[in-house]
Amino acid sequence: MTMTTLPIQVQLTETKKPKPDSETLEFGRVFTDHMFIADYTEGQGWHDHRIVPYAPLSLDPASIIFHYGQTVFEGLKAYSSEDGVIRLFRPEENMKRMNLSSDRLCMPQIDEELALSGLLQLIEIDKDWIPNAEGTSLYIRPFIISTEKFLGVAPSRSYRFMIILSPVGSYYKEGIHPIKIKVESDYVRAVSGGTGTAKTAGNYASALKAQQVADAQGYSQVLWLDGVERKYVEEVGSMNIFFKINGEIITPAVNGSILEGITRKSILELLRHWEFPVTERKVSMDEISSAYENGQLEEIFGTGTAAVISPVGELNWKGEKMVVNNMEIGALSKKIYDTLTGIQTGKVKDPFDWVIELNQNLVKQL
Ligand SMILES: *Cc1c(COP(=O)(O)O)cnc(C)c1O
Repeated sequence: MTMTTLPIQVQLTETKKPKPDSETLEFGRVFTDHMFIADYTEGQGWHDHRIVPYAPLSLDPASIIFHYGQTVFEGLKAYSSEDGVIRLFRPEENMKRMNLSSDRLCMPQIDEELALSGLLQLIEIDKDWIPNAEGTSLYIRPFIISTEKFLGVAPSRSYRFMIILSPVGSYYKEGIHPIKIKVESDYVRAVSGGTGTAKTAGNYASALKAQQVADAQGYSQVLWLDGVERKYVEEVGSMNIFFKINGEIITPAVNGSILEGITRKSILELLRHWEFPVTERKVSMDEISSAYENGQLEEIFGTGTAAVISPVGELNWKGEKMVVNNMEIGALSKKIYDTLTGIQTGKVKDPFDWVIELNQNLVKQL
């Protein structure tokens, strides 16, 4: 990969914050010393790429972002392993997807290589913040907000692109426990033609209600169904979903409302590399329910950057409880989890060239 070497101004902090204890780290509450910023002005394009001390923003209360939610975001991770190498998993895919999301929200495209170069420099500067206990990582949050001061409903003429970093604890502090999921029949996440395929704030705000109701009923996530017939499976919480039914591995095909995960895509490539029978197609709750009754529902797992793999131990569909694989992680889920996390941390060979090793790339760039 060649990196664009546009100058990124760097202003280092004079007051470094204390680092958190990696044993008690939560998700997304602590942030590193610096952040990346670039500004966009109509007619001028992106300008003033810079790395500056992490600090609050000052924005006009009439900024479009506060009123109409014109914004996109991404999520990925950097891993620091025993060998001292810092690794990123397919970061170029996140930059590419951010541009797809931006296109849906009428927002300007970023230069993907320049953004990646800014990210690598930011990580290099804040690399002491990457925890290295088993399962921990540095969560990376790139996002773009609309900053024009205007209450009319129209695309903003100015934007700010930022990247912030947050050290996060292990998703599975007490080992991998399958989760209980409620199949959501009242609320919907997205419909074809809407914004479901984009990582944009409104999708997450509108999902809170269903999540809150499921929580109160003892379920940790909701399984979203299609918005038209409420019949076909879409995804689970902020993860894509896979089923293993009678030997066949199935994930819902991307259909204009599902968010196309990079973990999903990687797992599909991995399964095909292993020559396992895998299909992307429509899958209905009726099919899941009859597979369960016939004893053919072997495994269910969610997939996403945060957990990598999240096995599902129970599905509740309108009161019908389906217990999957005895509430234990299945052999396939375990194999995928071990392989992907192994590749991400350098313990398993990466036959796909998915991983970028930070040190190597900075050297190449300079
Ligand atoms: C981010 C996200 C995913 C998973 O995407 P990854 O790239 O695998 O992290 C799935 N569904 C939704 C709704 C998401 O926001």
